[in-house]
Amino acid sequence: MQEFAPMVGEETIQRERRKAKELKNTTWWKNKKASGICHYCRNHFQPNELTMDHLIPIIRGGLSIKANLVPSCKDCNNKKKYSLPQDFQP
Ligand SMILES: [Zn+2]
Repeated sequence: MQEFAPMVGEETIQRERRKAKELKNTTWWKNKKASGICHYCRNHFQPNELTMDHLIPIIRGGLSIKANLVPSCKDCNNKKKYSLPQDFQP
């Protein structure tokens, strides 16, 4: 298997990205970001330095559901890319 070859179709990717965008406007997400803690490195950040990350990336079959979304600092997000959580060491 090629590492970055999407396991899902383009339609699914678009749909899940749209859902993620909607979830960014919820109180649930704002509270998560307000905690200021990166899910991966556990360091503290300003809420605006945290981005929404999919634990299981969309292209690898992850969904935009609360259980699959975590706040991540930009560093971890860049390093993680399309890794699965168990393959990623911050
Ligand atoms: Zn981090």
